[in-house]
Amino acid sequence: MNKKVVVIGGGYGGLRAVEHLSKSSDIDITLIDKNPYHYLQTEAYGYIAGRFDMHDVAVDLKEWCSGFEKKVEYINDRVTSIEFDEQQVKRLGGSIPYDYLIIATGAQTNFFSFIKGLREHSYGVKKLQRAYNFRIEFENLIYKKLLNEKNGEDINLVIGGAGLSGVEVAAEMAHVIEVYKKTIGARVESIKIYLIDASKTILPGVSEFLIKSTQKRLDSLGVKTLRETFIDSMDDSYIYFRDSKKLKYHFMVFTGGIKAAELNDSLDVEKNKISQFIPNSRLNIGNRENVFAIGDCVEIKNAAKEVLPPTAQTAERSAEYVADAIRKKMDKQDIKPFNSSVLGVFIALGGKYSAGEIFGFIKVSGYSAYLLKKAITKAYYLGLRLRINAGYKNRIKRDI
Ligand SMILES: Cc1cc2nc3c(=O)[nH]c(=O)nc-3n(C[C@H](O)[C@H](O)[C@H](O)COP(=O)(O)OP(=O)(O)OC[C@H]3O[C@@H](n4cnc5c(N)ncnc54)[C@H](O)[C@@H]3O)c2cc1C
Repeated sequence: MNKKVVVIGGGYGGLRAVEHLSKSSDIDITLIDKNPYHYLQTEAYGYIAGRFDMHDVAVDLKEWCSGFEKKVEYINDRVTSIEFDEQQVKRLGGSIPYDYLIIATGAQTNFFSFIKGLREHSYGVKKLQRAYNFRIEFENLIYKKLLNEKNGEDINLVIGGAGLSGVEVAAEMAHVIEVYKKTIGARVESIKIYLIDASKTILPGVSEFLIKSTQKRLDSLGVKTLRETFIDSMDDSYIYFRDSKKLKYHFMVFTGGIKAAELNDSLDVEKNKISQFIPNSRLNIGNRENVFAIGDCVEIKNAAKEVLPPTAQTAERSAEYVADAIRKKMDKQDIKPFNSSVLGVFIALGGKYSAGEIFGFIKVSGYSAYLLKKAITKAYYLGLRLRINAGYKNRIKRDI
């Protein structure tokens, strides 16, 4: 009899796990996600700045799953808890039994509670809804400038957190403003982009090359970078810093930290400070050999016991490993501990400009890096489209 694998979360990790598991004819898969779409968060910077459209950042999960014929069942619902002893996933609309379970629920923006007013007064980009709201605000502002409203008034747009997503958002918005200077004119010049971080440097944890090339690009785009700057609180109009200074702002996007998705809180399993599961070396959690966690919802280490950054890349590598581990378990073969490293990092820095590093020694910046990053994104998107097209063809065949 076929084994049933339930995958919770249709993000980068979840989809990669489904792709790999679908190669086994003796496995039936159920994918469940609270949203009806897969959100390409890695492209959020271009979406909020108005360069990409909704179809560049969201793909319908039901359509995608239909590309596997009847092998993959898709359920659009929120998982509320898991009964490990009974091997049941509890969702709002009932429960789903499993033989193997993969938790791939990702992470959410960590609006730190010690910064008063942060949650109420800032946007995140980890949810499509919030990215959408922010995009509307940004467009609205440009429109008002076009109408000659708010002229003479300095408008400060603030990005809190100078990690990978923060610098991408800052650079893309600054680039859009550069472009508008040519078409709308000097009116947009009063829109200033601030990038604020408590660390000594932008992009903490990445190589010197990436930090330097990114900073150079941000400077050339006129982004005002404030380092070692601690936000104390916020209200409707001002951001207050720990050194008693304040900054008037129009709107703020916060990318300063993440914590695991809410489901983790409902499970009595070992977790770290940001609620990520702490797994064993085979990515099992809660001492269950048939339950795995992948991607941003879990603290993943390489063989040297270093924690890997929460990226789409880590989510996909862990997904491939876990799909393979399930196959091996079914075939009663040995499973080696998870081991992976960061193969490369590419940072979009506004327009046709990126900075990147592959295998630690190939370093590129500018247009060539942009082309490489674009090729990686295109390849990912093409994979999604191929599945959707297959589903579409299957449906047409059935209808004839
Ligand atoms: C602006 C930005 C830029 C980035 N750039 C890069 C980059 O260049 N390269 C890179 O590698 N990474 C990048 N990342 C990080 C990358 O997007 C994440 O690491 C990646 O999305 C993690 O994948 P995941 O599968 O673990 O989770 P996600 O992709 O977040 O997916 C989790 C899924 O689980 C679902 N879910 C959550 N809870 C439940 C529940 N209770 N019930 C049902 N469904 C649930 C969600 O709806 C979601 O679909 C970027 C992130 C941002 C925000």
